[in-house]
Amino acid sequence: LWDQASTKLRDRVGSNNHTAWIAPLHLTGIESGEAKIATPTRFISDWVQRHYADAIRDALVEVGAAVSRLNFSVAAPRRAAPAAASRKRVETARPVAEPEMSAPLDARFTFDNFVVGKPNELAHAAARRVAEGGPVTFNPLFLYGGVGLGKTHLMHAIASDIRARRPEARVLYLSAEQFMYRFVQALRERTVMDFKEMFRTVEVLMVDDVQFIAGKESTQEEFFHTFNALVDQGKQIVISADRAPGEIKDLEDRIKSRLQCGLVVDLHPTDYELRLGILQSKTDAFRAQYAGLCIEPGVLEFLAHRITSNVRVLEGALQRLFAFASLVGRKIDMDLTQDCLADILRASDRKLSIEDIQRKVAEHYNIKLADLVGQKRVRTIARPRQVAMYLAKQMTTRSLPEIGRRFGGRDHTTIMHGVRKIEELCADDHGLAEDVQLLRRALEA
Ligand code: ADP
Ligand code: MG
Repeated sequence: LWDQASTKLRDRVGSNNHTAWIAPLHLTGIESGEAKIATPTRFISDWVQRHYADAIRDALVEVGAAVSRLNFSVAAPRRAAPAAASRKRVETARPVAEPEMSAPLDARFTFDNFVVGKPNELAHAAARRVAEGGPVTFNPLFLYGGVGLGKTHLMHAIASDIRARRPEARVLYLSAEQFMYRFVQALRERTVMDFKEMFRTVEVLMVDDVQFIAGKESTQEEFFHTFNALVDQGKQIVISADRAPGEIKDLEDRIKSRLQCGLVVDLHPTDYELRLGILQSKTDAFRAQYAGLCIEPGVLEFLAHRITSNVRVLEGALQRLFAFASLVGRKIDMDLTQDCLADILRASDRKLSIEDIQRKVAEHYNIKLADLVGQKRVRTIARPRQVAMYLAKQMTTRSLPEIGRRFGGRDHTTIMHGVRKIEELCADDHGLAEDVQLLRRALEA
């Protein structure tokens, strides 16, 4: 039961948080609606209660447990039985270089599965170089970029690649949150010396989402010393963050400057080509999983146009499409896509309003906004107006009547006529098709 709930929690909180906070917990029983959960330390207990109590209760309920309350207790850390019998042995067998100090790597996050495009080619090349080893060329490698652009994917790819090339090399990968958690735990359990030794004897240290330690003074301090010790020994360090070193608030200046002294590369927001490439590569993977499912041409292009926020959302959308289509036994076409992804499409809409489209189109054709939504019928204004209607229909999820209202209170049939007209014309008129394409790109940027 706990295993099932725990798996659900992994999906919900992400595998890094899961490893740090959920994996150490044990469900010891359920009594009259109260789930008893044992935690190894007070710190974990407090943290989990504060951050994950609701998620844990929900997960238990989802897997069928009759639970309305949680009761956390701190159980003595579990030691292997023979060690407890002999105190001496406990002391000599110090937990140095335990492989579980490194967070588990996601087997899907490899270089092979990473689609390279303009926005991420530098980051990818730098990651490859670090993985290849040889003399340490840039130290640290600092990767930064917005959410879901592939930082963690590249970090895992580097770690897996090094482990495959040099199985004896000690590669330690963990999130900054886990670094802090382990450090605090070491303080609590008075094993700071082990902690230091553990970190200072690795060959490659990789810390993901380092912005997490901003404002956490003693963790920063420890991180700084660890960092310096490793750099002095010529060991490779790879760091990621959601922004450039100089822009992380509440991070000490000396740490900022150390983080900047290697190579700093950013992952840019994806462009249309990269998104399409990623969708194609994921589709190939899904096809193997959902044999026999058919996806109509145009769907991937539509998604690449419309879901521009981050790769994780894009991937989630595709995953949902496949799951849904296989459930209802339909092919993946535009209708299914619109139905199944209405919420995601609407969310990505919020950024692009009909007004944005109108303004851009008016500017492109060098006409007044008032004319664009006005009543003039000359071709030089009527055609751009139809282009704007077409784009509003294609690029937002507004209904035809709604679009009509924004175009000076026109009827929905007028909008539909405009949309059809542009579709027809684009088939023959390459100039117009190009205009539409250009405008679309500009609006997505
Ligand atoms: P970040 O750590 O930057 O927030 P992740 O590395 O977790 O982002 O990426 C989010 C998801 O998007 C992951 O499933 C990852 O595999 C996928 N992803 C991101 N960029 C790419 C890419 N270039 N090629 C393939 N998958 C990608
Ligand atoms: Mg990440």
